[in-house]
Amino acid sequence: MKTINPATGELIAELPEDTQETLWKKYQEAKWAQGPWAAVPLSERIATVERFKHLLLQQIEMLATVLTAETGKPLWQAKNEVNGAIARIDWLTGNAEKYLADESMTVSESLQEVISYEPLGVVCNISAWNYPYLVGVNVFVPALLAGNAVVYKPSEFSAHTGLQIERLLHEAGVPQAVFQVAIGTGAIGKALLELPFDGYFFTGSYKTGNYIYEHVAPKMVPCQLELGGKDPLYIADDVFDVTAVAQATADGAFYNNGQSCCSVERIYVHENIYDVYVEAFVQQVKDWKIGDPHEADVYFGPLTRKEQIKVLEDQVADALTKGASLLTGGQRVEGIGYYFEPTVLVDVHHDMAVMRAESFGPVIGIMKVKDDEDALSLMQDTDYGLTAGVYAQSEERAKTILRQLNTGTAYWNCCDRVSAALPWSGRQHSGIGATLSHQGIRAFTKPKGWHLKL
Ligand code: NAD
Repeated sequence: MKTINPATGELIAELPEDTQETLWKKYQEAKWAQGPWAAVPLSERIATVERFKHLLLQQIEMLATVLTAETGKPLWQAKNEVNGAIARIDWLTGNAEKYLADESMTVSESLQEVISYEPLGVVCNISAWNYPYLVGVNVFVPALLAGNAVVYKPSEFSAHTGLQIERLLHEAGVPQAVFQVAIGTGAIGKALLELPFDGYFFTGSYKTGNYIYEHVAPKMVPCQLELGGKDPLYIADDVFDVTAVAQATADGAFYNNGQSCCSVERIYVHENIYDVYVEAFVQQVKDWKIGDPHEADVYFGPLTRKEQIKVLEDQVADALTKGASLLTGGQRVEGIGYYFEPTVLVDVHHDMAVMRAESFGPVIGIMKVKDDEDALSLMQDTDYGLTAGVYAQSEERAKTILRQLNTGTAYWNCCDRVSAALPWSGRQHSGIGATLSHQGIRAFTKPKGWHLKL
């Protein structure tokens, strides 16, 4: 499998892909190794994962360089990602004892009722490239803590990072057979669906997630999907500082080149502050530098996947044909690498793809609304349900809107953020199940109810 540097279009390396035979062997090894791993005391499994965390910290410079080379993410953002993963590991290791311990539900003279949390077994984790450390850690860390073995398939666009993760987990003391990496494209992902895993945990697009859900259904095992979004944001007219909000929300839309599952993908602005907001937003976008992701002051690197250029070009063309106005950007940057100009569209409406389909790139549509009801009905008009945000001085005003949205995450005066303490979950086409928080630890377990007659 060829891996390409998206900033230069040059070959990074050719990696040997897995085959049906090697996948089967990895699965079988994991199956044998899982029981002994589950028998290791939880405190030791926690200590092992903590060693992994220290290795991440020690080797952060090199790990960030690898990540930048294969995804084009600016180096400082790559370091932020590894640091973010370290913080998540801290929360997960710090809370594993609490949420994996047996729970006593009833204690009487004649009866005890207890819940124990048993590992699922061998789980399959098929992952995305946009935040390989963060979305990987969401799955394989709690899975390992709960006593599962893991077969982890990194995206073909972040395979080198996947191999670094494997190396460091083994160095930290996770037995080789307990954490295995499957290298390959979607075909290898498909082949993994044929194996008898005890759970499937997928991060990626709705299209692939839908395919996986259908194919895994007959196995009757847990299948969690963390998929894409078309996350809306509403800026109400009582915000304190419109310019500061415009700058913060531009970052929410364009950090990581807009390639975040919870990127702000469409913005509705109250008509009373619309002009000021849009001017400050566009100014912020123009102030950010596009270029070599190794340079410290570069905000926009290349897109990770070449194919996404066409998706963005089509969305922009569709919007302009239907009456949108372009305030900045709008096209591919000529020259080497997969660069696309950061793009702001206004005069947009919901018949345009840019307001309905995930862009997953540096393209945003901003729409003027006359009041909160108008904003709410437009925010509700989507097949997705990952996050939604409202910027408003009044908490109650924001919550009134957010309560009526079918999303797994609600943001008041913030956006594009994830917390290890809260469940990360999509609804509708954004997925099913939750990672992170106590729910995301127990997602890797099967509860057993104990009825103990004394
Ligand atoms: P993708 O669906 O193209 O690929 C994801 C993974 O699935 C890759 O490892 C790929 O090789 C594999 N795959 C492809 N076809 C397959 C098949 N038929 N069977 C099994 N596996 C298959 O997604 P991507 O481009 O890697 O990621 C981008 C998408 O992920 C965006 O939609 C983004 O919003 C979403 N995402 C969601 C979250 C979240 O937490 N909700 C986090 C990150 C990314």
